[in-house]
Amino acid sequence: MKKILLAGTIAFDEITTPFGHSGRIPGGSAVYAALAASLFRNKTGMISVAGGDFPSVYLQMLEDRGLSLNGVQIFPNEKTFYWKGFYYDDMNRRDTLVTRENVLRKFRPVVPDGFKNADIVILGNLHPGIQTEILDQLTDRPELVMLDTMNYWMETAPRLLRQVIERVDLLLVNEEEARQLTGKTHPLHAAADILEMGPRYVIVKQGEYGAALFGEEGVFYTPAYPLEILRDPTGAGDTFAGAFAGHLSEYDAVGFEEMKNALVCGANTASFTVEDFGTRRLEQITREDLETRMREFIDMTRFPLQEKYKSV
Ligand code: AMP
Repeated sequence: MKKILLAGTIAFDEITTPFGHSGRIPGGSAVYAALAASLFRNKTGMISVAGGDFPSVYLQMLEDRGLSLNGVQIFPNEKTFYWKGFYYDDMNRRDTLVTRENVLRKFRPVVPDGFKNADIVILGNLHPGIQTEILDQLTDRPELVMLDTMNYWMETAPRLLRQVIERVDLLLVNEEEARQLTGKTHPLHAAADILEMGPRYVIVKQGEYGAALFGEEGVFYTPAYPLEILRDPTGAGDTFAGAFAGHLSEYDAVGFEEMKNALVCGANTASFTVEDFGTRRLEQITREDLETRMREFIDMTRFPLQEKYKSV
């Protein structure tokens, strides 16, 4: 069974969307990614930090799903990372109203011995300095190192972020982040620039429009699963990353063809997250629910190929 090492935040989020206000609820990039990765056959270890105010029952729920929390540090006298976000009417745009790093400032990540040789590493949304410390502790070169980041880190730690980007295989960004990182407005041009920075692959997430994978082998695009109910997009990107890695962990080798499948699987898993506030929906779903949705998605996107295109 492959090992996934996954780093990111454990958070209290407060989210307002046109559908309502969440109040203070558990979230964080590591949490969404871990819940998604736990839908697949692998051993996933989390690297994160929480304050004494974070509910232990929630951490227990993660352990009950088979996730290893040996790399999660708890600081009893500190407050958990806090993020407050506001989504506009179309939910494609959001503003960050508050980010309080709190306990994150004291965090020095320690990769547990059992995960120093992880097969797939997700450096989820965190300070690039912390992401670097994690990379430095790995004993074996992983098959795939994925990096997720956010405009917050592009603004507060741009130099360090560029150094991490140089060291990873795959960068995940949304369209706005791709633009901010490269100064290029078109995703294709932005992706080409990012491939020059070091990674072999780039995924540009396009919210309700899907996601595109770029590499030297070419480009692959997936639409998003068309949803009737969309309540809260928070965590969709992290869910995508966790499911992408989870899906890849079930293959022997990791290449562009496998990543095409993982891209579709990531987009479909993320579609569950946005159906309700926080992690509520993601906590409920089973592997079977995901497979049913994947089948529906395949039916929706498959079309009979005319003879003349078959050799293409
Ligand atoms: P996403 O919607 O996929 O971008 O992820 C949102 C999640 O990321 C929320 O649960 C937040 O707690 C967390 N988050 C927000 N800002 C940051 C940040 N600057 N660094 C790390 N995690 C963050």
